[in-house]
Amino acid sequence: MSGRNILVINSGSSSIKFALVNENQDDFIIEGLAERIGTPDAEVTWKENGEKKHLQLGDADHAEALAQILPHVQKAAGTLTGIGHRVVHGGSQVHEACLLTPDVISVIEANASLAPLHNPPGLMGINAAISIYPELPHVGVFDTAFHQTMPEHAYRYAIPEELYTEHKIRRYGFHGTSHMYVSRKGAEMAGLPVEDSCWLVAHLGNGCSATAVVNGESRDTTMGLTPLEGLVMGTRSGDVDPSLQVHLHRTFGWSAQEIETLLTKKSGLLGVSGLSNDMRTLIEASEKGDEKAALAIEIFCYRLAKSLAALSCALPRLDGLLFTGGIGENATLIRKKTLDHMRVFNFKLDDQANQSCVRGQGGKISADGHPLVLVVPTNEERQIAIETLEVIDAQ
Ligand code: AMP
Repeated sequence: MSGRNILVINSGSSSIKFALVNENQDDFIIEGLAERIGTPDAEVTWKENGEKKHLQLGDADHAEALAQILPHVQKAAGTLTGIGHRVVHGGSQVHEACLLTPDVISVIEANASLAPLHNPPGLMGINAAISIYPELPHVGVFDTAFHQTMPEHAYRYAIPEELYTEHKIRRYGFHGTSHMYVSRKGAEMAGLPVEDSCWLVAHLGNGCSATAVVNGESRDTTMGLTPLEGLVMGTRSGDVDPSLQVHLHRTFGWSAQEIETLLTKKSGLLGVSGLSNDMRTLIEASEKGDEKAALAIEIFCYRLAKSLAALSCALPRLDGLLFTGGIGENATLIRKKTLDHMRVFNFKLDDQANQSCVRGQGGKISADGHPLVLVVPTNEERQIAIETLEVIDAQ
């Protein structure tokens, strides 16, 4: 097999997503997911050259799960050139993908309080993979790194300075790997050099964020200190009046934990619809007359349109709007409704092209003579592999 192989690992609290990426092949050699880690039902399923495979993992923790999974990856790979790890929060210290040296691992630990649900399990995956493959280069690719180019007026909150200088409280932004991949791919699809191109990128999955990208750099984004700020998401509220939290505490006696659970796990599409966090389910329900599902969709699209319009302030001009993520790549209705809210931008969809760009099919969906709108399927694993190879090549 020609080309180098990179294993990409995305380690969550009870799951590990992994992909074996060959630099010269579009399809992944292996793509898998270990779930329910830390419980007696831990299991892993993966696709290897198109064939489905499955393994019960016993009561495996992250280290044991990886110890069972990695020999299968190694066998399929033959030779592994390195391992790329997705890391959610690199704080202000990490500006780009880098080797996971003890110093960098300390930075990830130091930022754990800013991403308590993500950085600790990420570290478990990193430490386990390093102990299994100590001789391979391990590279961290950070969700926050792409947004380190935001200007200070975009990343600072209007709160006293010492909270920033002493406690690192500022806007960081997330989904950076996807925003970077999609803005580069979008430029390629539009025939523009990435270093002279201006985009609004809407990454709409279960988590959602939008970014203004100028000449390949993030200039502003909707997520902030944590991935709660900004757009309406599957179970996250996105922006609310910050006084809501004080109100819930003071008037109803809610604890910090209860408020956090409300805003991160019970809000968003799920909270408004009372039905589901899944956009597909909500579209089906609203077509059958479910008014709460319809309202959830309306709020989602209006808030997205409003944020995209706000982000346009960070652009010197607009070369196009890029939709990505499970919703952005598939939900033709959401794309249409969102653009209908942005009348002053003069967007217009080509209805047939909008219907055709689903299930991994990217392309132009705007009508000729109107601002460009593209569907660009994201590929975070590919982007992590690309950046991992760039770091390895630079050694
Ligand atoms: P992701 O987190 O990127 O996998 O995206 C998950 C979201 O994409 C969920 O809300 C899904 O309901 C949504 N999604 C996936 N396929 C479709 C579809 N065909 N129509 C509408 N939403 C979809």
